[in-house]
Amino acid sequence: MKITLGDILSGRVRIVYRRRRRKLPDTPEVAELRKAAKGYLPGRLRELAALHGFTVNSVRIKHNVSNWGSCSVKGNVNLNLNLMRLPQDLQDYVMLHELCHLRYMNHGKEFHELLESLCPNHLELRKRLKEYKLI
Ligand SMILES: [Zn+2]
Repeated sequence: MKITLGDILSGRVRIVYRRRRRKLPDTPEVAELRKAAKGYLPGRLRELAALHGFTVNSVRIKHNVSNWGSCSVKGNVNLNLNLMRLPQDLQDYVMLHELCHLRYMNHGKEFHELLESLCPNHLELRKRLKEYKLI
């Protein structure tokens, strides 16, 4: 089908385009969260890792609206600065979840058994976490 300028101007054809993924701009609130996150989260993650025998390579603070945290097989953990908006038990839950992924890169049975052993109320925490939105 050939599309003419007339089709577009008349609204018969609508052009939809995807925005390129861009870094989210730091609002003053986000800048504050980032600063607090950098000062607290890497240390807390390493503390939890040491306590439970995980080896962490790097810890990075990220800002996105798709996940609270992520990690790689190389032991690099990314944590969302939005974690600073959560109560401590939910922060720890997210970090323990990521640490368990350093051992099991999936959400299989073994992963859940490990998480359960470190965080017996993880199902309740998971439910509570869903009440928070990433900004
Ligand atoms: Zn996961």
